[in-house]
This record gives sequence, C-alpha cells and structure tokens, in this order.
Amino acid sequence: MVAERYHEIQARVAAACGRSGRKTSDVTLIAVSKTKPVDMLKEAYDAGARDFGENKVQEILEKYPQLPADIRWHMIGHLQTNKVRQVVGKACLIHSVDSVKLAREIEKESAKQNIVTPVLLEINVAREESKFGFFLEETQDALTEIAALPHVGVQGLMTIAPFVEDAEENRQIFRKLHQFFIDMQHKNVDNVNMNVLSMGMTGDFEVAIEEGATMVRVGTGIFGERQKRESF
Ligand SMILES: *Cc1c(COP(=O)(O)O)cnc(C)c1O
Repeated sequence: MVAERYHEIQARVAAACGRSGRKTSDVTLIAVSKTKPVDMLKEAYDAGARDFGENKVQEILEKYPQLPADIRWHMIGHLQTNKVRQVVGKACLIHSVDSVKLAREIEKESAKQNIVTPVLLEINVAREESKFGFFLEETQDALTEIAALPHVGVQGLMTIAPFVEDAEENRQIFRKLHQFFIDMQHKNVDNVNMNVLSMGMTGDFEVAIEEGATMVRVGTGIFGERQKRESF
C-alpha cells in the first residue's frame, strides 16, 4: 500500500516537473513519516524512499536506529532550542530555522561537534498567526546575521503554505517565495547557498513544483491520514 502510494506520488512529481520544464532530478521527494510506525517507513524505504521528514526530535531519535543508515532525516517541525543538541549531527537538513536565536544554538552545538549543519530558513509568507517563521521583510536581515555563523550552512528557504481546499489558492504564495529566493541568490551572500526551496505538501505539491520547489514534503499522500491534525 505504502509502496504503491509512494510510486504514485513519484509519478505526479515527475509529471509536474514535465509540465514546468524541470528535470525530475531537480526535485527531492521527502516522505513525511511523522506519527507513522517504523514498518511503514520500511515499506517506503523498500519502494526507494531515502529522504524522510519528521517534525519531532524524539521521533527521529526513536526511529533512526531501527532503519537503514543511508536514510536522510529531515527535521521539518518547529525546533526548541533545548532539543538542538539531540538533532545536530543526525538530521541532514533542518528546514525549520525560524529565529536567529535558534540559529545561534545550532551554531554552538555544531561547533562542539566540529561540523557545519545545513539549514533552511522557514518563511511565513502568508503571515499566519498560527505558524512559525520569518516574515519576508525580516528575512534578509536574519539571513545576514545567520550567514555570519560559521557552523550553520544556509542552503535555502522553506515555507508551509496555508491549508486550502484548492491548491491553486497557494500558487501566489509559492510564486512570491520563489521570487524572493531568486532575489537572494543574486545577492550572493557569503557563506550562504541559495539552492533549496522546500515547499509543497500533499494538497499542493504539484503547484509548488510548477512554481519552483526543489523539495516537496509529502506525508498523507504516501502514508495515509494521521490520527489528528497536528499544529505546525
Ligand atoms: C506534516 C507536515 C508535512 C506533510 O503534510 P501532508 O499534508 O500530510 O503531506 C509537510 N511539512 C511539514 C512541515 C509538516 O509538518
């Protein structure tokens, strides 16, 4: 069941790439496995998934020793500063850097471990009160501050678009963030790579790809409904 769904989502990713003149290899499909049991993750792994997304540090810590070592774990949920120590060195990419304070904490821990931790800045494009992330107009200043941290490697931007019935309603949000992403690429900030644009979930990943996403985070579409609609 998981394998079929995974392949179906892969095919939809490829079709969206085709429609928008992009290469399939330019878009990474992240299987968002939060709340799902390890045996379902194994099914996805056997179907070819190597990128998994979790929103709780605790869940990454529980799952990763039970699964193959070549899995790339993406931290996609709000990260509290007191959990940073546990996730640095385990997550391949932290998508959810939503404050300079958090980036400083990641810096401290990464320096201790003598590594550079790849991160994305989370942007609250739609200015939803219920969501974390920088507002667009704060992002450039935050980026400048975070770029000065030698053990934090900014790779790009992430957003969680509003929950909508019709994915088309989010097209402008994705377009706006993509435009900002391109603007930041042109700024060529030292110690910043602007290569990753993480946007699009089960309900809207095709529109996100059409508007320039390089990573999409799909949970329900691969693993089925979760028990409750958790907050971000
Ligand atoms: C849960 C989650 C997703 C996946 O959501 P689906 O609608 O189930 O695809 C994507 N991104 C983040 C940050 C999430 O927390």
